[in-house]
Amino acid sequence: MGALLCALLGIGCYTSAQSQIERPRLVVGIVVDQMRWDYLYTYYDQWCQGGFRRLLDEGFSFENTIIDYVPTVTAAGHASIYTGTTPAVHGIAGNNFLLHGQPTSSVRDTTVQGVGTTESVGMRSPRNLLATTLGDQLKLGTDFRARVVGVAVKDRAAILPAGHGADGAYWFDDTSQQFITSTYYKSELPQWVRQFNEKNHELLTGGIKYSWRGAKATMQLATAAIEGEQLGQDDVTDLLAISISSTDAAAHYYGLHVPRVDSIYCELDRQLADFFSMLDKKVGNGRYLVFLAADHGGTYTEEHMEEHRIATGSWNPAQAFKDVNAELEKRFGVKQLLKEEMEFSFYLDHDSIAAHGLDRDLVAAEAVRLLSQPDEVQWVVDFAHFDRTVLPAELRERLIKGYHLNRSGELFIVPSIGVYARYSHKSGANHGTWSQSDSHIPFVLMGWGVKHGATMRHTGMVDITPTICSMLHIQAPNGSIGHPATEITDK
Ligand SMILES: [Zn+2]
Repeated sequence: MGALLCALLGIGCYTSAQSQIERPRLVVGIVVDQMRWDYLYTYYDQWCQGGFRRLLDEGFSFENTIIDYVPTVTAAGHASIYTGTTPAVHGIAGNNFLLHGQPTSSVRDTTVQGVGTTESVGMRSPRNLLATTLGDQLKLGTDFRARVVGVAVKDRAAILPAGHGADGAYWFDDTSQQFITSTYYKSELPQWVRQFNEKNHELLTGGIKYSWRGAKATMQLATAAIEGEQLGQDDVTDLLAISISSTDAAAHYYGLHVPRVDSIYCELDRQLADFFSMLDKKVGNGRYLVFLAADHGGTYTEEHMEEHRIATGSWNPAQAFKDVNAELEKRFGVKQLLKEEMEFSFYLDHDSIAAHGLDRDLVAAEAVRLLSQPDEVQWVVDFAHFDRTVLPAELRERLIKGYHLNRSGELFIVPSIGVYARYSHKSGANHGTWSQSDSHIPFVLMGWGVKHGATMRHTGMVDITPTICSMLHIQAPNGSIGHPATEITDK
């Protein structure tokens, strides 16, 4: 379009390869679900040479990257990484939230159908995401010549990173046991995805969600996407957004750093080594840019911490919801004054409060008092009167950045440090709080335009995409509040 514009204006444009803006052929985002920053070093001695080790040995590591908001959960993490902003702005207030008063998952969209499935997991799109993403900006910055694809086992982990303008996002359907998409993107599965599903039948039907098979399947699908979508094959920068979901599912079930989870990281490491050497051949070493990050970290189980006499505890949001509603009913004579519980976020039933002529502030104050009672809860914030809660400045900021006015619950629980949400005694690790365990994530860049090094300077999850946009000389996403990392961008 630039050349065309010049021609129309009668201006001579020099459009040889040398005069073009220098950009990598491909950007690859690798977001590992629940990968704490310290996992880079927990497994360091076991990493093979070409995978995570290559990222650390060749790349630049931002060793002190912190999630800028709470709650530290998957959908919010993927959205924040790729939009450079937080739930307050991009609207993905949690994995689930209320939208126009109704519960929804972050990527649920009843106006679309599944492609490759008839199950409801196909009714998905990025429509609930309010801000533009890295992929959207790449599209806008290249007159839509860039190709953008997202792959993951989890729906939200494929869809939110790929953004609104993506050519495709592919996620796994447990019922048909294959990778699918929705009519938001396409009316039928592309040939390369169909072929992948057929060729990998054995791998995909072996139960991939909680196993190393999930990491392998996702990386293999990412490899197929390079060929299938011709990513990184010309001078227009493409984006491949890969998210590894099994690491989170397995840790929720079995706990942190247990053999089942370790085996997924080992498989992922091997897969990354193969993937990078494939990119070296197909795209060219030094012609692609990779970043590694995580949507959140994770907290060790109560049993594990207790065994080692480390202060810990758990708190059951569903039980609190039930108990507090029962107490509110005794006081106000009305059932279910708390409408929904979304882990740390509690919603008042405004219709019921109004219909019964109750005072909203009186009900909220009583709910806050009741929710605050257990030792496991440190603060309960009523966002309608945020100033009434005395909070450390850092935590205030994170709470405000994580709160979406129309979508988040107005009562928010901050558990005591070391305490995590646990719905059943059987469950393993969890996350969602502001603690270092949950909020300290890896951020490593490698490849095109990246010198080897590391910094302990504080960076935020929201700095990831603005840094990449600066390197590519494209505008950061519209809601971005992050800052480019000058260690990379300053020449
Ligand atoms: Zn999780």
